[in-house]
Amino acid sequence: RRAEVLQAAYRPAITIDGHRVEVAANIGAVPEAGRAVQAGGEAVGLLRTEFLFQDRTDPPSEEEQYEAYRAMAEALGGLPLIVRTLDAGGDKPLPYIAMAHEDNPFLGQRGIRLSFTMPDLFRSQLRAILRAASHGEIKIMFPMITSVAEFRRGRALVEEIRREVDGPEIDVGIMVEVPSSAVMADLLAREVDFFSIGTNDLTQYTLAMDRGHPALAREADGLHPAVLRMVDQTVRAAHGEGKWVGVCGNLAADPVAAPILIGLDVDELSVGVPNIPALKAQIRSMAYEDAKDLARRALACDGAAEVRALTSEAA
Ligand code: PEP
Ligand code: MG
Repeated sequence: RRAEVLQAAYRPAITIDGHRVEVAANIGAVPEAGRAVQAGGEAVGLLRTEFLFQDRTDPPSEEEQYEAYRAMAEALGGLPLIVRTLDAGGDKPLPYIAMAHEDNPFLGQRGIRLSFTMPDLFRSQLRAILRAASHGEIKIMFPMITSVAEFRRGRALVEEIRREVDGPEIDVGIMVEVPSSAVMADLLAREVDFFSIGTNDLTQYTLAMDRGHPALAREADGLHPAVLRMVDQTVRAAHGEGKWVGVCGNLAADPVAAPILIGLDVDELSVGVPNIPALKAQIRSMAYEDAKDLARRALACDGAAEVRALTSEAA
């Protein structure tokens, strides 16, 4: 019986009219990799590596990181593991990094910007990832990319270190979570191997609403058409260059939003492990043609509330 349930879980998620959507997992701890596979995840679409760096007084060694990445890659048994490089700063400070006070941490040194200011730590992370890449299907993803130049700088460093450790050639992609990268997606798409849209930050930065602000929680909605138009623009740019696009922000796990994202032609949805079975079931029960129609109408709405009303009407 359990074997049967697992069999069903492992089947791909295909709409009733034959459109396949990859369902991946967001994870932030080593044991979650195995659980992602058990739940039917077809990949890890986002490994938040912050867990290795937070809640401690000193940075993790290269060896410690290597062991963790390798264990997760092996637990996935050949399924892709997208390792996002450290996304500290902003709301995630690190005790062992002397950071100057910032009036607006979300607009300060965070994500890849912060990594570039700590070359030793950044190199040790890339070395660990590229060494682990010999033991599984690992891809690298940079957080908070705002320009082509920033991506090139990161990718050049990956290539330099790949030679150093004699690692395999691997895909390098970016989070699209800042409006500038969505707006410039056509140029970025020529250079990256993939995009993963981070709707949590993309919503925050597009609407200028703190993602954790209790009074703005209702309004800071990723279904705002301004955000959806950026998703649309990013997908078109990527597909124009033959690249794939995922969504790894919380919006991907919102059952109201999933059909719209699928209708916008996103290739992969990456969600928390417990959300995987329900998302796969939802995809299997919907029609891609309906999703496309819904998405087209959502793009023409004037606010998130109207988009939500649209979807309840459709249901
Ligand atoms: C996002 O911004 O949507 C995202 C997935 O990254 P994080 O939540 O870790 O900032
Ligand atoms: Mg983010």
